[in-house]
This record gives sequence, C-alpha cells and structure tokens, in this order.
Amino acid sequence: MGLGDVSARISEACKAAGRDPGSVRLIAVSKVQPLDRVEAVLQEGHRVFGENKVQEAAGKWPAFRERFEDIELHLIGPLQTNKARQAMELFDVIQTVDRPKLARTLVRLKDELGHCPQLYIQVNTGEEPQKAGIDLAGVDAFIVECRELGLPVVGLMCIPPVDEEPSLHFALLAKIAARNGLGELSMGMSSDFERAIAQGATSVRVGSAIFGERDHG
Ligand SMILES: *Cc1c(COP(=O)(O)O)cnc(C)c1O
Repeated sequence: MGLGDVSARISEACKAAGRDPGSVRLIAVSKVQPLDRVEAVLQEGHRVFGENKVQEAAGKWPAFRERFEDIELHLIGPLQTNKARQAMELFDVIQTVDRPKLARTLVRLKDELGHCPQLYIQVNTGEEPQKAGIDLAGVDAFIVECRELGLPVVGLMCIPPVDEEPSLHFALLAKIAARNGLGELSMGMSSDFERAIAQGATSVRVGSAIFGERDHG
C-alpha cells in the first residue's frame, strides 16, 4: 500500500494492456484523510488530488496550494448549483457535471469569472436511482447540449454499482466516450483500477490504497 505501490501497479496494468504508463493519470483521493497523510504524499512529489466535497476541499487546499506548486485538484463528488461558483474557483477539473441545470449555471459562471475548469460528464452507467450521473438514455444529447453551450467537456466519469462486475461499466463508458469523440475516461478506484486501465481509463481515482482506510465518507 502507498503511492509507490499504486504507481507500480498502474505501470504493470498498462504494460499488460499494451498501453503507455504515461497515459494514465493517478488522482489521489484525499477526502477525509488526516492532513499529515496528504502532506506526506505531496512531499513524495505527487500533485494530482481528488476531493468529493466542495466545503472540505475549501478548508484544505488553498493552504496546500500556497506551499506546493502545480497542484491539480479534481472534484469527484456531486455538485449543487449553489456551490458551483466556489467549485469553479477551487478546482482545476470538475468530473461530475450531470444535469442541464448545472451545465447552464456553469456557463453563466464561466462568462462571469472568465475561466472554467476542465469538465467531465458523470454517467450513471448502472441506472441506480440514488446515484448521481446522467442516465444512459440522455447522455448523448446531454454531451451535445454541453458542447453547444460552449463548455470545455473533455471526458466521462462513472462509479459502477458496488455489486456488479465493474469491467462491464468501464467498457460501456469507453464506448459512449468513443462514439462522442471524448478522449478522457475517469474510472477505477482502489478495488478495480487495474480493470479500468484494461478498459481504457485515462484517470483512476484511488484513495484507500494510497492513504489507508478512511474512518468514514
Ligand atoms: C472516495 C472515492 C474514490 C476513491 O475510493 P477508494 O476506494 O478509497 O479508492 C473514487 N471515486 C470517488 C467518486 C470517490 O468518492
């Protein structure tokens, strides 16, 4: 366990899939982790992190950004429209765009702020009612809508149902991205990132395998 171990496993998985190890970005998911563990990973030279709550990220990352250059922060949890402005100021990438109302809010703020993070669309590949993400029936139209609004959508993200084989969901996400000409795929967590890499992940979101188990969240 740890950053070095996960990086080595990513390289192995790339090799097994005939892919360049540089083609997979490791997002270290630091939510709920003690600050000293996050700092240790920064000290090791890692710069790409993921958080699932805007508020929690706001309490942590501005201070780290003052001390460490070139941090790239990804929002990987649901985004309420009333937190969109704060999210656009905090994050370099927002991976959880999943509904027209949020897309329209982001466009308005993009014009106001004069910049916009890179965006991913979250897809509810398991069609789970309680889960965030645009549903399968609506995803193609939503991608078109975001593009027509001028939003910088670069890829897709999914969180497969816990009780299903994730590879099927990863393959489905890759297929949707390919038919829409999107190059980035954020998929795979501690338990399944090797399988995600086999299906074409360009970002994997790994928390506990780097930092250790979380108490909660
Ligand atoms: C917490 C979280 C992760 C990381 O989960 P681990 O199993 O600890 O690797 C990845 N993606 C999302 C969206 C998360 O909320």
